[in-house]
Amino acid sequence: MNGKRDYYELLGISRSASEDEIKKAYRKLALKHHPDRNPGDKHAGEKFKEVSEAYQVLSDAQKRTQYDQFGHAAFGDNGPFAGGFDFNSGFEDIFGDIFGEFFGGASGRRRGQARGEDLRYNLTLSFEEAVSGVEKKVKIPRHGACDICHGTGAKPGTAPQTCPTCRGRGQVSFQQGFFSVSRTCSQCHGHGTFISDPCASCDGSGRVRKMHTLSVKIPAGVDNGSRLKLRAEGESAPIGGVPGDLYVVIQVEPHPIFARENLDVLCDVPISFVQAALGAEIDVPTLDGKIKMKIPAGTQSGKLFRIKGKGVKDVHGYQQGDQHVRVLVETPTQLTARQKELLKEFASLGGEDINPLSKGFLDKVKQLFD
Ligand SMILES: [Zn+2]
Ligand SMILES: [Zn+2]
Repeated sequence: MNGKRDYYELLGISRSASEDEIKKAYRKLALKHHPDRNPGDKHAGEKFKEVSEAYQVLSDAQKRTQYDQFGHAAFGDNGPFAGGFDFNSGFEDIFGDIFGEFFGGASGRRRGQARGEDLRYNLTLSFEEAVSGVEKKVKIPRHGACDICHGTGAKPGTAPQTCPTCRGRGQVSFQQGFFSVSRTCSQCHGHGTFISDPCASCDGSGRVRKMHTLSVKIPAGVDNGSRLKLRAEGESAPIGGVPGDLYVVIQVEPHPIFARENLDVLCDVPISFVQAALGAEIDVPTLDGKIKMKIPAGTQSGKLFRIKGKGVKDVHGYQQGDQHVRVLVETPTQLTARQKELLKEFASLGGEDINPLSKGFLDKVKQLFD
């Protein structure tokens, strides 16, 4: 880690450079030093890696802060980012982002390495499962080694044979004027072997589509549209390649009484107009059971009450939302004769002061028309 050049210096930018300036500087340098553009230059690869590392740190606000504070030590053995750089994940994202447009999409990936396709799986969870987390078995159709030929592609009892054209080398050379030119063997496509009796089950490809059952741990707190990436659980690649990734996209079913807004939970609770007028202690459902809530006397319909810390925990477990309870005052129906009589008597007693909303409204109407 010692003797490393300053990241800002490497990218030729000031310490106060904006995100945009950082990206621009990296783009320019990365293009200049990209190994594909400098065939035969051994230093280009090194240089390219250096500027990419600088970019990886400075383009990440958190890492940049750490770097500004601790320098390269932030990424040393005892630093907060010990373990160094993951050139296979974040790096590739930057790589794809920056180079996709210059080199035409897939060339951003390391060459010569076939990669299986990424797969997407839509997973529906109940409201509770999304809130509390759950382990789910998912069935993914993807290619795997053929059981009949064990992935060789050759009919059982036979074996792939050494390619007679290239004698197993996968390459054939021929003389063209003064030069000896090699190219990939067209008979075996570079594999060095060929199959005379292909396996009937996989047509000689060695791979068949199968259902794979995977156990996926869903962290508590996921929401509609949350996306989990399972590295290397996507489609397998042809021999020698790396598998793609699997993206599990979450969809959450609605709940009969709770609604969710990010980490907050919303819930409507009906109360009687007597409870609203006189005040009451009511039972309110929360994610972890019923709790008692006090309704003050004179509560109007639609009033929101907040119960702190009764919402959803975020997926990292750092924060928890609140529950918002909206009380809806219910007008009684199907009254008995006695109840009607009492209400009429109640109405005859009331002055206009007992209905503050109506009073305010009537005052405004008066101002409007008088
Ligand atoms: Zn087979
Ligand atoms: Zn061959």
